[in-house]
Amino acid sequence: MIYNRCGRSGLKLPALSLGLWQNFGSVDPFENQRTMVRRAFDLGITHFDLANNYGPVPGSAEENFGRLLKTDLAPYRNELVISSKAGYWMWPGPYGEWGSRKYLISSCDASLKRLGLDCLDIFYSHRPDPETPLEETMGALDFIVRSGRAHYVGISNYDHEQTARACAILKELGTPCLIHQPRYNMLDRWAEDHLLDEIGKQQIGCIPFCPLAQGLLTNKYIDGIPAGSRASKVCEMKDSLIHEYNIERVRKLNVIARERGQSMAQMALAWLLKDTRITSALIGASKVSQIEDSLAALNNLVFSTDELARIRGIITS
Ligand code: NDP
Repeated sequence: MIYNRCGRSGLKLPALSLGLWQNFGSVDPFENQRTMVRRAFDLGITHFDLANNYGPVPGSAEENFGRLLKTDLAPYRNELVISSKAGYWMWPGPYGEWGSRKYLISSCDASLKRLGLDCLDIFYSHRPDPETPLEETMGALDFIVRSGRAHYVGISNYDHEQTARACAILKELGTPCLIHQPRYNMLDRWAEDHLLDEIGKQQIGCIPFCPLAQGLLTNKYIDGIPAGSRASKVCEMKDSLIHEYNIERVRKLNVIARERGQSMAQMALAWLLKDTRITSALIGASKVSQIEDSLAALNNLVFSTDELARIRGIITS
C-alpha cells in the first residue's frame, strides 16, 4: 500500500480507501461485509468511510461496521482511520438533516453509539447548507474536535467558494480542515474545473468518491447490465449513467487500459491518483475480488503524454 500525506496535516491515508455506502447495510449479507473489510485491512486499506445514513436501512452500515470493530478489529483500532458524516436526511423533523449545530452534534453522537466508538478519526459536514450560516456549521465541527468526538474534520460536496470560506473559518477557530470529499472520476470531472485548484491552494487533502462512477468505469457494463450489478438494482444509476454514449467511451478507454496491462477499473483509479492533490481514491465494492482488482491499480500510476492525450480525447468527446 502507498500512504499519502493528507494535505499539510500529520495524517497519512492509504491511496485506496473503502467506502461503506452500498453493500454494508442490514439488507446485505454480513459475512460478505466481514470478508471484504478483513481483506481490505490485510491489504493495507486502513481507512474506512461511513456516514450516518449509509445502509439501507439508514444507520445500519455504521451498526455493522461497529459489530466488526468489536468482533474482528478491536485490537487494531489505532491502525484504522474511521470517518463518518452528517448532512443528508437522517431523521424526521427540522433537526434531522443539513448543517445546524444541533443536527451535526446529535448525529455525531448517534454515529459514535452505532459504531461503539468514543472518537471518530474524521467527521465531515456531508453537504453545504444554504440556510445555516457557515460559521455555525464550522463551529459545530470545531466543537466536535474540541469535545473529543473526532480527531479531524472535513467537508464534502462543497464548491470552491464554500471550500475557501469553510477553510478560513476553521483556520480561525484553530481546527484546520483536513480534507475535502468530492465526486470525481474520468466521466465526471466537475471537480477538475471547479474545485481542485482551491483544494491545492488550501493545501488540504482530497478523497474523491465514486472513482469508478459506481462501477461504470470497469468492464462490467460493456456488454450490457449483468444480473446482481448495482445498475441492475439501482434505477437511478441505470437511468443516469448506463447509456450507449458512456458505454462507448468506456469501450475505448478499455483499449488503452489493456495496452497498459491494466483492468479498466485499475486505469480509472490510477488516472485519479496521478494528480498529487489526490490523497486517496474512495472505492466501493460488492465482493473481495473487486477490492483486489482495484488495489492492483497501484502497480502502475504513471501515464505517458500520449496515453493522457488519448484518454482526454475520449473523455471530453
Ligand atoms: P465506486 O465508483 O468505486 O463504485 C463501486 C462499485 O463499482 C462497486 O460496488 C461494484 O458494483 C463496482 N466495482 C468496484 N470495483 C470493481 C471492479 N474492480 N470491477 C468491477 N466492478 C467493480 O464507488 P461508490 O459509488 O461505491 O462510492 C464509494 C464510496 O464513496 C462510498 O462507499 C462512500 O463512502 C463515498 N461516497 C460519498 C458520497 C458523498 O456525498 N460524500 C456520495 C457517494 C459515495 P457492483 O455492486 O455492481 O458489483
